[in-house]
Amino acid sequence: MSAPATRRPARPRSKPKPQMSARRRRAIFEALRAANPAPRTELEYSSPFELLVAVVLSAQATDKGVNLATRKLFPVANTPAAILALGIEGLTTYIRTIGLFNSKAKHLIETCRVLVERHGGIVPRTREELEALPGVGRKTANVILNTAFGEPTMAVDTHIFRVANRTGLAPGKTVRAVEDGLVRTTPPEFLQDAHHWLILLGRYTCKARRPECERCVIAKDCDYFRGI
Ligand code: SF4
Repeated sequence: MSAPATRRPARPRSKPKPQMSARRRRAIFEALRAANPAPRTELEYSSPFELLVAVVLSAQATDKGVNLATRKLFPVANTPAAILALGIEGLTTYIRTIGLFNSKAKHLIETCRVLVERHGGIVPRTREELEALPGVGRKTANVILNTAFGEPTMAVDTHIFRVANRTGLAPGKTVRAVEDGLVRTTPPEFLQDAHHWLILLGRYTCKARRPECERCVIAKDCDYFRGI
């Protein structure tokens, strides 16, 4: 008779971090809302198309640098047809102070062409159509859906990724895991503005090298500050 099969011992795992309680999660967003009741993107725009251009230009660039460029560009060309008419060379003269301007000019001209030819010059409102535009990925689509069209989406950039992990709001190893975690767990009443609050928190307070916990409005409910 053969010996009975034995179960292999489970591999030791590090203890998972306990999930943040709903009470603390709500307290964090209430504190962020109290400090800034109507958060806005720092990119300057006056239409969904201007926002799309600004967001495409903002990849690996500062909002301040993008605003300096678009303040000159938009009075001259702020529709897909007008930017298409500028051509790559014409557009480049306005955006050459911004990092990766060559590839951004190429993408924007192609995007304008698609908008004119397939969408009547209008920025589409669905994720699929937005992500089909040249140079527009999931993050940019999320910004447009949230900020231009009021959808409860979460565009996770480097700041939000860091803040979500540090605070314990939505720990995750990938951008998509953090996005899904934030969308799933953020109380609905805060979801529309959560993207802006978390970006601003990461940009000005919860900085990468040295978070300024001593002046942070959510410190008492933050995992990092509480040593969790
Ligand atoms: S308490 Fe510190 S670690 Fe936590 S969010 Fe604020 S700045 Fe970041």
